[in-house]
Amino acid sequence: MRGRTIAAVGEFGFLEQLFRHLPAAGNTVVGPGHDCAVVQCGDQRFLLTIDALVEGTHFKRHWLSPRQLGHKSFLINASDVAAMGGQPRWCVVAVSAPPAYSVGNLLHLHTGIAQAARASGAGVVGGNLARAAELSITIALLAAAPRRLVTRGGARRGDRIYVTGTVGDAAAGLRLLRGARPRLSVRTRTHLLRRFRAPTPRLQAGALLVESGIASAMIDVSDGLVQDLGHICAASGVGAILRTADVPLSPAYRAARGTDGALALNGGEDYELLCTVPSRNVALLDTHRARLRCPITCIGEITASTDLRVVDARGRAVAVEHGGYDHFGRA
Ligand SMILES: [Mg+2]
Repeated sequence: MRGRTIAAVGEFGFLEQLFRHLPAAGNTVVGPGHDCAVVQCGDQRFLLTIDALVEGTHFKRHWLSPRQLGHKSFLINASDVAAMGGQPRWCVVAVSAPPAYSVGNLLHLHTGIAQAARASGAGVVGGNLARAAELSITIALLAAAPRRLVTRGGARRGDRIYVTGTVGDAAAGLRLLRGARPRLSVRTRTHLLRRFRAPTPRLQAGALLVESGIASAMIDVSDGLVQDLGHICAASGVGAILRTADVPLSPAYRAARGTDGALALNGGEDYELLCTVPSRNVALLDTHRARLRCPITCIGEITASTDLRVVDARGRAVAVEHGGYDHFGRA
């Protein structure tokens, strides 16, 4: 392992190896491998998560204004907190920037972070600034944990699979930024770009799905719907059947991509919630729908086998091009 490159092992292959060697403290309630760690301090439980946006990997500078970039860098962390039903409280921010980056832009970037944090009920309490060849923003976020814990590992055979909002919009927006030139209305284009630049963390929905006891497992969709469902399956030791005909697509997505659902299945950066719901809780979910502040759609079911099957409206297997996003090129 040591002599091999990360590219050869893949992001998830490396993490699997790493997790075996991390020291666990006695007050760790949930360790690595979920959207947030859960730690116990006295009689309080907290969620802890960290994420980075790196120039050249996640964004090019002309794709987002500095304020939008700061905003998004906080929101992707808040989405991990939403996936475990928590409430953001404090964050620290590490920015690396080239020396030629302007002070004005750096201030706008921090304004974006502060605005997003404030809107989520969190404070910015420290950070670091370092010199680097590329711009990057790393945020660590501490959140109040809900009374009940829901991780990726609680899905059971027969559970229904639900996703909030619509998927694929951010990836379709990214295609536009990368230079795709489909004929689209201003409204469609604006919607897709906004979904890439300013995702909406589903904090209210996540908290409700956890606190009410509705969800058995949950993850936020950051790498792609199929891949993130695969993470739930792997952590829960189950399989799944995903019905493409039921995957919720926005009118803007349909305008840009027609019936091609590939970006909705694999595109990533949706920051919607993907959860499993035991069938006995489906009626309870229906009574709570209005309070979620977003639509939620059943897209499949958990199965006893350990494979993930993607099927069309007639039940025929759909070939999934690749399994979503892996930073080092392996799905
Ligand atoms: Mg996540």
